Amino acid sequence: LALRPEGTASIARMVAERNLQSSTREPLRVWYEGQMFRYSRPQKGRYRQFYQFGVECIGSPKPIIDAEIIAIGWQILQEAKVPDVSLEINSVGCPECRDKYNILLKEFLYKDKDKYCTDCQRRMEQNPLRIFDCKNKTCQHLIEKAPRMLDNLCEECAQHFEEVKNSLEMMKVPFIVNPEIVRGLDYYTKTAFEYKINYLGAQDALGGGGRYDGLIGYLGGRQTPAVGLSMGLERIILSLEKSGFSFSEEDNLEVLIIPIGINPIQASIEMMQKLHEAGISAIVADEGSSVGSNLKYCDKNNVSFAILIGDNELKSGLYVVKNIKKKSQSEVKKEEVIDFIKTHEVVVK
Ligand SMILES: [Zn+2]
Ligand SMILES: [Zn+2]
Repeated sequence: LALRPEGTASIARMVAERNLQSSTREPLRVWYEGQMFRYSRPQKGRYRQFYQFGVECIGSPKPIIDAEIIAIGWQILQEAKVPDVSLEINSVGCPECRDKYNILLKEFLYKDKDKYCTDCQRRMEQNPLRIFDCKNKTCQHLIEKAPRMLDNLCEECAQHFEEVKNSLEMMKVPFIVNPEIVRGLDYYTKTAFEYKINYLGAQDALGGGGRYDGLIGYLGGRQTPAVGLSMGLERIILSLEKSGFSFSEEDNLEVLIIPIGINPIQASIEMMQKLHEAGISAIVADEGSSVGSNLKYCDKNNVSFAILIGDNELKSGLYVVKNIKKKSQSEVKKEEVIDFIKTHEVVVK
């Protein structure tokens, strides 16, 4: 039994096992959202259990698809109004150019092998690219002068990266090239990217992704190129809070409908249904409870409006709408109650 650490491998396995068909012309576009788990030391913005959502496009090797995915993430963060996001992109090459590059990199690393931290000494053998992720100051300093994957791409990968950049420019998505973006997962090929902020301490990436042309084949499927992104919901929320946005603790009930006696119950239920259709939360108070206790309930629970319906209101078609916070009340034609509430609604940020 294992807890899933991320979503992309599951999607790739689904495509491989069910032999889902996709092509350059008709790529498969999917998204997911759910809880993921990592066994790393918890700290602010890094949890063992967290929510992640992601978008994947499977079947096309084209650079414009990389740009499409990158732009989706960019747009999500813009629409969520996360301030000061910077998009950083890189190419981590393909197996062909990476093998050649790894030899170059290892040569460089082994010159000063003993100066690196023990983790990095282990990485040197297994996956030297990961040394760029090391947070150790000495390692960071040593690696500064290392040869870069970006400068050692094969012709195809270099061309692909150029076209990703051109497409992003066409889409007016601002980016910077950062040769140190390698992503924590090993299956990436060619494009890798991260959405970064500089005000959450060490947890500076809200999300990111890249191309993984080899993964579906590796999991037993047809060789299928693919690219995707994922984002952490908790970090997006943290960054919004950090920038002064406040989330209300819970959604308050907007309207309590108070039937006086048993005659107005049907009218009350109809009113509730109309409010629900208009997207306004509403419930009907228990008919046995007094008006006074219901109004107290509204006060205590931040309910915005109470609607009183008794025999007189049934006859006249004019309902009594109480604005709880303003302590005012109006008689409103029953057909106009929705509009009345919408225009008088207290806007809570
Ligand atoms: Zn290559
Ligand atoms: Zn290190």
